[in-house]
Amino acid sequence: MKQYPYTISNLKTLKEKTAIFLLDYFFKIFKSQGKSKLYKKQKYLLYHLVSLDQVVDVKCLPTGFSTSFLPFTNTCDYCYNILNEGEVLTCGHGYHYKCYDKLYYSCNHCKEYYKKGINYNVKMFIKCLEKGLNVLTNEKLQDKEESTPTADDSDDQTELESISEVHNNFVNALEAMSC
Ligand SMILES: [Zn+2]
Ligand SMILES: [Zn+2]
Repeated sequence: MKQYPYTISNLKTLKEKTAIFLLDYFFKIFKSQGKSKLYKKQKYLLYHLVSLDQVVDVKCLPTGFSTSFLPFTNTCDYCYNILNEGEVLTCGHGYHYKCYDKLYYSCNHCKEYYKKGINYNVKMFIKCLEKGLNVLTNEKLQDKEESTPTADDSDDQTELESISEVHNNFVNALEAMSC
């Protein structure tokens, strides 16, 4: 028999702590809307995620962010009108249903990006074959600098705040949201 590590009152406190975290976090995201930016460092395209305060390689984001046509937040990426009746695809681009229909259900911005990438890779491959060398080209050898995530690894169990403190914070956070 395994012993369940949490009591019911523990769970209630943990639930409120989670709620405080999420409220804070979504508020931060709300405040940082439109502030995240794409920039270039040497050969690499990087993206500064303001709410996470992290810089990531653009490859970590949906494909749309790697294309020459960055996804807009609330407009259609085909007709540029407000996106009311439509969907945002996994690539990050969003289209009205009727616009997506006109595109024959594919995202042209991303298709262009993939085509260019495939062309480039094929060209490099042919170049390698023509040279007759079984070595990697400089472009392929370049190593990326690793972004080191700075996760806060503090052990929550050891610093469990008192139940009332968490509850007060939770109530304060809720009140702050409503005004
Ligand atoms: Zn549209
Ligand atoms: Zn796309």
